[in-house]
Amino acid sequence: MAEQRLRLAVIGANGRMGQRIRALASDAEDLAIAAAIDRDGPPLDELSPDAVDGAIDFSTPSQTPATCAWCAEHRVPLVFGTTGLGAAKREALDRAAAAAPVVAAANFSVGMNVLFALAREVTELAGEGWDAEIVEAHHRHKVDAPSGTARRLAAIVAEARGQEPEEVVRCGREGATGPRPDEEIGVSVLRGGDVAGEHTLWQLGRGEQLFVGHRATDRDVFAQGVLRALRWACRTERGPGRYDMADVLRG
Ligand code: NAD
Repeated sequence: MAEQRLRLAVIGANGRMGQRIRALASDAEDLAIAAAIDRDGPPLDELSPDAVDGAIDFSTPSQTPATCAWCAEHRVPLVFGTTGLGAAKREALDRAAAAAPVVAAANFSVGMNVLFALAREVTELAGEGWDAEIVEAHHRHKVDAPSGTARRLAAIVAEARGQEPEEVVRCGREGATGPRPDEEIGVSVLRGGDVAGEHTLWQLGRGEQLFVGHRATDRDVFAQGVLRALRWACRTERGPGRYDMADVLRG
């Protein structure tokens, strides 16, 4: 007998990501949209958990506590992509992860997750004497900066050097900045047009420079990754916990 379709609740359903997630899920034989939740429609807590196998949130940080509380209460697996969270909202995500699998990623594309691995390797192999800088570009409608992906990339470089990200990551420069400290990891931001997402890690040495980067040309790479993460979260035998795309890609 054919396997039952996984029934999804998409939160932020009318947004750029939500629309692509719904379109790709509608085309998939193993998925069905059980609920499309957005700001102006019925809220998530009016939804019967019996109708849902997994939830996806690509909305806004103000929705994060409600999404996490609902998933925790009903033990519903969650794929979470909303960026720009503060510490309190990250704790809400941890509470959901205590009850069900939660896949949270700064970026759901396969290529970007390969870049995360390369960034670690490049930083470790290059060793001391290199200045790390990250440049990201996104479309003109993006409301937070730097991107969650750029912050993750910076954190990976810091971790590979044995540093605390909050002590060394510097977002933007202006005015009399003084010379660049050795340990600094700079993050610079471009906004405009319809750029789906571009991230480059520069490692600037003395007499040589390294660049590793990723460019998304189609938002569907994120949506495909999200659906892959959802299938994984609904079927994993690893139980409740916080997972990322590396867990999903390793299967
Ligand atoms: P968007 O502004 O196009 O869509 C957000 C949607 O959420 C809108 O339809 C809005 O009405 C809805 N919304 C707002 N408040 C809500 C609420 N309380 N309940 C339900 N829906 C609500 O934005 P987008 O480009 O689709 O991105 C959404 C989020 O996902 C952003 O935080 C963005 O940075 C992030 N993002 C993450 C990745 C990734 O791979 N992790 C990729 C793209 C975007």
